[in-house]
Amino acid sequence: MTTAANPSVGLVGWRGMVGSVLMQRMQDENDFANINPVFFSTSNAGGAAPSFADGAGKLEDAFDIGTLAKLPIIVTAQGGDYTKQVHGELRNRGWDGLWIDAASTLRMNDDSIIVLDPINRDVIDAGLSGGVKDFIGGNCTVSCMLMGLGGLFKNNLVEWGTSMTYQAASGGGARHMRELLNQFGTLNNEVSSELDDPASAILEIDHKVLAAQRTGVDATQFGVPLAGSLIPWIDADLGNGQSKEEWKAGVETNKILGTGNGTAGKDHIAMDGLCIRIGAMRSHSQALTLKLREDLSVTEIENLLAKDNEWAKVVPNTKEASMADLTPVAASGTLDIPVGRIRKLEMGPEYISAFTVGDQLLWGAAEPLRRMLNIVTGKL
Ligand code: NAP
Repeated sequence: MTTAANPSVGLVGWRGMVGSVLMQRMQDENDFANINPVFFSTSNAGGAAPSFADGAGKLEDAFDIGTLAKLPIIVTAQGGDYTKQVHGELRNRGWDGLWIDAASTLRMNDDSIIVLDPINRDVIDAGLSGGVKDFIGGNCTVSCMLMGLGGLFKNNLVEWGTSMTYQAASGGGARHMRELLNQFGTLNNEVSSELDDPASAILEIDHKVLAAQRTGVDATQFGVPLAGSLIPWIDADLGNGQSKEEWKAGVETNKILGTGNGTAGKDHIAMDGLCIRIGAMRSHSQALTLKLREDLSVTEIENLLAKDNEWAKVVPNTKEASMADLTPVAASGTLDIPVGRIRKLEMGPEYISAFTVGDQLLWGAAEPLRRMLNIVTGKL
């Protein structure tokens, strides 16, 4: 319901993958009661606004700078090209509203803050008081890692870490998810008669599947087959052996935590690793090796993680619990960030392993944005 007391908030990119999850969460949490939403479209200006927001009117043109500039707050999940095209033009016109964005375009700018309030509410509040206007959602694997391991990172207990990721098809968007399923279907069709016959030779099945993977599956989106395989590279090649996704782990972790700028008790944390695409549908996982600054017992570590935030869920390091609770299937569609496989490594008492899983469309994309909106509207 539109009320004069509520701020008008422009919503761009609301029907995309991140945008749909964001809209669903905002409805679930009754966030629309605190704002007057103005819906935009890059493709259907003048069309009907979604019915879940009472009295929102028609869709506005997302490229109409004059209409955007009238709003005190804009939330966008439209993508990096849109941000590049529109954000600069708005700011050049003198627009000083708040820009809340899922795209990576502005993340590493000096005058932006990466939002993940259970981890960096202090950084966000200091930014708001200091006049920062651009608040950007973080990389999905980085955000999910920090939510699971916040108890170690926030207490300055991590000296360095490697993060080896197992990232789901949904990180690439809806078309990538469909392609993965079509590939699984093609492979299954290729050997369905042999699978029906328990006496058929497994080597024959294997040969036929491999032949289909090499020549017969549609890999338009991923470039190579993902079903029954993996892709050990995500995002752009930086030319130094590192992918852009891998670079983000270090720079974004430190930016979110506000570390590395010489502040006492906030030492820079070296984070690096390899980012791998696997055939999971939704939810990114990562295996971590952490060098701690202190020799803490596993129980002390688990207690720190469990009490840091209500979404980090410590999974006991047993086969049964890990198989049941520490998988993409278990985590998808929930705000929980399971964290397990915590044990001391052979390298020494300060070296531990950990494994986290998180729904990258929730904590990795939509949730920090809607919470940032609630922070600026005074509801959080
Ligand atoms: P997306 O699904 O491709 O949606 C982006 C836009 O595409 C929509 O807002 C819509 O704009 C347009 N669109 C065209 N055809 C569509 C259709 N059939 N259905 C729905 N939308 C359609 O992109 P996304 O995955 O949500 O990503 C948006 C941004 O979030 C990107 O910058 C991405 O890097 C970032 N991000 C993504 C993830 C992830 O896991 N996917 C995680 C973190 C951040 P109009 O309504 O204006 O036409």
